[in-house]
Amino acid sequence: MGIGMILSKLRSFEHPKVFLEQYNTDPEVAEKLFNHIILRSKLDDLVVADLGAGTGILDIAALILGAKFVYFVEKDKEAIQLLKENLEMFNYSNFQILEEDVSNFRIPVNLVVMNPPFGTKQKHIDRAFYDTAFLISSEIYSITKTSTEDFVIRYAMKHGFSGYVLQRMRHLIKQQFYFHKSKTRFIDVSLMYFKKNEKKEK
Ligand code: SAH
Repeated sequence: MGIGMILSKLRSFEHPKVFLEQYNTDPEVAEKLFNHIILRSKLDDLVVADLGAGTGILDIAALILGAKFVYFVEKDKEAIQLLKENLEMFNYSNFQILEEDVSNFRIPVNLVVMNPPFGTKQKHIDRAFYDTAFLISSEIYSITKTSTEDFVIRYAMKHGFSGYVLQRMRHLIKQQFYFHKSKTRFIDVSLMYFKKNEKKEK
């Protein structure tokens, strides 16, 4: 059984906030992202930060897969309430929840996982996420809209990171914002990996 089954039991946003671009990562997408992560890293040794943790699916996946310690960083109180309820389903204590803007989070970690706002309603809202990620970690996994892959890869390059597309997939969005016409819709997302470039020896 994959972890997607467990993740599908988590509570998701009840009243997603448009201005914060709250979308829950689909459990299947989260499972795929972590399949890529565990191919490269042994989570037992790693401290992980989830930027814009929302109701917590990504860092909860990290906990299930044995991460040493995780930080949930989220500025929305209601999301944090749901996140806490989700954590109560488990017995973990190796985590910390920080109610703050990702721009203020400056604790160095081994890995960042994030599904930042896509910037569809508020241009460049995702910049603060990438800026923080590039400062605190040398390895980052993120979910982005496929149409912005090139932009984020170029943005990463400017910060001394190489970016790679791990997988492209359809992401089912169930939550309803008033501007969505159909009941469910799909967006094309890309699972991305960024690694800090090694400094060249002189
Ligand atoms: N990581 C969750 C939620 C993704 S939606 C998941 O994958 O399901 C993006 C989240 O970022 C929302 O919960 C939103 O409240 C939060 N957010 C948006 N801007 C933020 C900021 N500047 N600082 C902290 N959290 C932010």
